[in-house]
Amino acid sequence: MTQTQFDKQQFLKDLEVKDIQLYVNGEFIDAESTKTFDNLNPFTNEVINHVAEGDKADIDKAVESAKAAFKGTWGKLKVAERLEYVNKIAEVIDEHVEEVALLESYDTGLPISQTRKMVARAAKNFRFYAEMVSSRMVGEAYQVDDEFINYTIHKPRGVAGLITPWNAPFMLETWKIAPALATGNTVVLKPAEWSPLTANKLAEIIDEVGLPDGVFNVVHGFGETAGASLVSNPDVKLISFTGETKTGSEITKNGADSLKEVSMELGGKSPIIVFDDADFDRALDACTWGIFSFNGERCTANSRLFLHENIYDEFVEELKERVGNIVVGDPMDDKTQVGPLIHSTHFNNVTRYLKIAEEEGGQLVSGKIPEEFKQGNFVAPTLVLNATNDKSVAQEEVFGPVLTVMKFKDEEEVIDLANDIEYGLAGYVWTKDIQRGHRVAQAVDSGMLWINSQNVRDLRVPFGGSKSSGIGREGGHYAFDFYTEKQVIHVALTDHHIPQFGKKKD
Ligand code: NAD
Repeated sequence: MTQTQFDKQQFLKDLEVKDIQLYVNGEFIDAESTKTFDNLNPFTNEVINHVAEGDKADIDKAVESAKAAFKGTWGKLKVAERLEYVNKIAEVIDEHVEEVALLESYDTGLPISQTRKMVARAAKNFRFYAEMVSSRMVGEAYQVDDEFINYTIHKPRGVAGLITPWNAPFMLETWKIAPALATGNTVVLKPAEWSPLTANKLAEIIDEVGLPDGVFNVVHGFGETAGASLVSNPDVKLISFTGETKTGSEITKNGADSLKEVSMELGGKSPIIVFDDADFDRALDACTWGIFSFNGERCTANSRLFLHENIYDEFVEELKERVGNIVVGDPMDDKTQVGPLIHSTHFNNVTRYLKIAEEEGGQLVSGKIPEEFKQGNFVAPTLVLNATNDKSVAQEEVFGPVLTVMKFKDEEEVIDLANDIEYGLAGYVWTKDIQRGHRVAQAVDSGMLWINSQNVRDLRVPFGGSKSSGIGREGGHYAFDFYTEKQVIHVALTDHHIPQFGKKKD
């Protein structure tokens, strides 16, 4: 179906409770145990899917088929043939952007105007890595004393275990799958249990593209069973994980037994620092979008706002007005800016933080949730005023539409405050003083920092965090390096001297 033929109204009418199966060795199948779990719509809390609940037996089966494909069909393809498949996946995603975006919004509660962009970006992920790999499989080469050449090649590692979270699932899954496949690995994906729908759609797309059986596998299920089995399987050569810091720490420990390569993209609690010389209106736009887009369920959300004391009152007044005007509603509606949170458990966690914030002396200012939407997991966009950096709401990852607002006096103080936290994923600085912008950016301990900007980034640069926000980097050649094994080939150009141990003298 092409993009233009897609009928949104019909699609919405046709949505019905659907069974979601595992995708293993090129087939959609039930879990060995035949167990299923329910997937809920965050807007209505109704069951929308019965999902096959994979566990160790299913993971082992998927890894076995991925291993066979790596040695066989996929491993034997020429690089150009492999990349043709990868580009084709991008093409088919592009044909289904609207459909995938609607499924994503239906499953996660993320507003449709935002999921559309994420799905389009997912297609780019495949094209980007196809392009990169076409020029990168051979690395360095050195000629030594006219006698030897040493050169490196990059080889795929084998079966890649990919474990992903529920926020922006389709985009984050493809951000791992694209480099894994383009570099020649085979994949077992364990998507988050709260957002299985678009992973299933991706399996359908890949099935349509016709990748050889076993190259791409999806095993739905829970972290402690399916996820943990993927981590402990000795035939899985690497684990790329995105999720919570405590889960990342557990996976790193469990993966150590079989000496796996690990890449960890973990939690964040990122500061946005606004100096009194900043472009006030743009900083306000960026700050508001940066915390309330994607329902605040975004790893790089600017959840800690540090405002210079000279602009504090005025900025807060504007923020209050913005928060009151944000359109909270049906995620499938184009006008919606903030939708319901992914799950009632997560809703309870976010509202628990709001209670704690109040108990700790914070003053809450919240937007509105229309009365007719009370059945969903809605948390109104909220400011926490009167907070200080030592409070739970300033230190812990709330992962919802909640902005903690704090005041600072000078550069030195705000750098200390920004760094006084366990996380180090992202940061944002707003100032017109170019020297101060760079100075503060470099002093903030985070993997990524934007000056007078919000989250716009080139796919070639590294993505990831320092401190408890991660190990390693994704993106660009960083992902390429992670998904490939380096091999050095030493070649003699001459019959150079080799010591003759044990040889009888003539
Ligand atoms: P989570 O850690 O609860 O779960 C993530 C995935 O890990 C799920 O698929 C889950 O089933 C699996 N899992 C859980 N326990 C496991 C175990 N013991 N072994 C193997 N797998 C296991 O995270 P979440 O709640 O789904 O996602 C939200 C978190 O993700 C937030 O902390 C957010 O900051 C983080 N995140 C980080 C980035 C980044 O790039 N740094 C991007 C997006 C989200």
